[in-house]
Amino acid sequence: LALYVAKGAGKNRWRRYQNHLHSAMVERLELRSALDHAVNEGHFVLHYQPIVKLAGDDVVGFEALVRWDHPTRGIIAPDQFIEVAEESGLIVPMGRWVLDQALHTVAQWWRILPRVRRPYVSVNVSVRQFRQQGFVDQVRASLEFAGVPPHALMLEITETLLMGDDEKIWTDLATLRDLGVKIAIDDFGTGYSSLGYLRQRPIDVLKIDKMFIDDMLGDTQQLALVSGIVSLAQSLGLTVVAEGIEDARHKRILTRLGCPLGQGYFYSEPMEATEALSWLRNPIPV
Ligand code: C2E
Ligand code: CA
Ligand code: CA
Ligand code: CA
Repeated sequence: LALYVAKGAGKNRWRRYQNHLHSAMVERLELRSALDHAVNEGHFVLHYQPIVKLAGDDVVGFEALVRWDHPTRGIIAPDQFIEVAEESGLIVPMGRWVLDQALHTVAQWWRILPRVRRPYVSVNVSVRQFRQQGFVDQVRASLEFAGVPPHALMLEITETLLMGDDEKIWTDLATLRDLGVKIAIDDFGTGYSSLGYLRQRPIDVLKIDKMFIDDMLGDTQQLALVSGIVSLAQSLGLTVVAEGIEDARHKRILTRLGCPLGQGYFYSEPMEATEALSWLRNPIPV
């Protein structure tokens, strides 16, 4: 602000600036209260995106991705509201709904499908949820309520969450993993963290961020990074999911690098639960 004034911005410009600030704030408050309402009314829906074995195209799991099902505006993507949900703390009740809904859906699939076709469901979990007292117990209770075993669930934690080295998060993750829940590091490679944490930590899966896959084709250094992540994971006994596979070239290169699993529009966009189920029953046309 001082800078603004010092620059000698005229009175009008200052006013415009204030108005702009004001309307941004109002917009945020409105969004927050609408989101609060949506949480109370359960105006959300989950879409599911397959996680596929690159060799053979079998589906091993589905990532659950939340959408706001707005009564007048229709489906709203998470990048429009997750940030406000995080800031306001609404991510906690919303995240609880997401977990229960995803487990409810996977339980339905498991009842219908033969053992070899049963996928896990992968749920994104935010920092705020993890800091809640009793999060581990809540996950355990939700699994029991849905009636699925822990290996039907994977939790995705973004790498940045783990950067502040908060031992409690690691203890909680270890407890969940001991139960049989799979733990994935999401957006791996974007957190600029030291790789040291990967050793001896309760982790099963690294999800390579889409950004790396995007640039891999034209950029040999980026390709080297992806290749490096894949071999690093292998030597640590972790599995890898490449995100954002959009075409056959992505798939071909990743397969050649030995990347076991992938996810992206090439296989399918996130889809409704019923559509995902028919996918599971009639494996893939690619
Ligand atoms: P994410 O966890 O990295 O999820 C992957 C995003 O990439 C999804 O966007 C997905 O639709 C999109 N995607 C998948 N394949 C492709 C592809 O081939 N090309 C392109 N361009 N995009 C692809 P979406 O569904 O909009 O979700 C955005 C972010 O919102 C997620 O990123 C995640 O961070 C957050 N999010 C979504 N659902 C939840 C949730 O239930 N809880 C929390 N805490 N965060 C969520
Ligand atoms: Ca994710
Ligand atoms: Ca991701
Ligand atoms: Ca991402």
